[in-house]
Amino acid sequence: MTTIFGKIIKKELPAEIVFENDRLIAFKDIHPAAPVHILIVPKKEVPNLQALTTSDLDIIGEIIQVAQQLAVQYQIADGYRLIVNNGELAGQTINHLHFHLIGGRLLGALA
Ligand code: AMP
Repeated sequence: MTTIFGKIIKKELPAEIVFENDRLIAFKDIHPAAPVHILIVPKKEVPNLQALTTSDLDIIGEIIQVAQQLAVQYQIADGYRLIVNNGELAGQTINHLHFHLIGGRLLGALA
């Protein structure tokens, strides 16, 4: 089922897009948890990390590369988190796989 992120990918909803290619899109989180909070999202509609299959694994490498580039661009390369919430119990609210790139302040304990 198409989510908010699916609609952003199809340009049916607006977003502050900071990177895009055929496979990935990255845009600013609407409720940022830190000065830099970017969501890196595969265009393929995979619901969560647990649903990834071997044939999807290339996309993970590419997400990490994009995260590294954005970290340099947004001057947080010396301290950031790249986080996935997998499932409702972990706080996942949108069922389309996404990685949170968070930085720009001192990041405290994880939980
Ligand atoms: P998660 O809780 O891991 O599923 O993360 C979902 C994230 O999407 C949250 O940090 C929200 O603030 C963010 N979000 C929800 N709607 C939008 C939107 N329209 N544009 C950008 N970010 C959004």
